[in-house]
Amino acid sequence: MPGIPDTVIDEIRSRADIVEIVGQYVQLRRRGNDYWACCPFHQEKTPSFKVNSAHQAYYCFGCRRSGDVYRFVQERENVDFIGAVRLLAQRLGVRIPEPSSTGAGEAGAAERSARQKDRRYEVLQATAAWFRQQLRDTHGGGAWR
Ligand code: ZN
Repeated sequence: MPGIPDTVIDEIRSRADIVEIVGQYVQLRRRGNDYWACCPFHQEKTPSFKVNSAHQAYYCFGCRRSGDVYRFVQERENVDFIGAVRLLAQRLGVRIPEPSSTGAGEAGAAERSARQKDRRYEVLQATAAWFRQQLRDTHGGGAWR
C-alpha cells in the first residue's frame, strides 16, 4: 500500500468538515451544538445518529457506530483508510504526492505508516472520551429513541 505523507493526511483532516461530508450522505438537522440524522448504517425512523463539529466525530446511539471523518467515509464507501484519504483528497482538491520511485523509501514507508497509526490512535483516544461523555449525558443512550 503506497504511503501517504502524514502532512497530507493531516491537511485533509483539517480541511474536511465532518458535518459537511456527512451532510452529503444524510440530511442533518442542527440541534444545539450537534447535528442529528437518521443513521446511514442502520434502519431507523427517529434520528439517533449524531455529528459533532467541535470534535469532528460521529456517534450512533442505535448501532453504536462511531469515528471521525475518515472512518465515516471508510464505512460508507466501503474503502480502506488510504481509500478514504484519496476520496476526501479528491473531493477537497488536495493533491496527494505520488510516492517516489527511488526505492529508498521502504524502511521510511514502514516508519511513516507506524507514525500514522500512532496519530490515528491519538485521535481515537480523544473521540473515545467524547463518546463516553455522550453515553453518560443521554442516560444510557435511550433519550433519542
Ligand atoms: Zn446506527
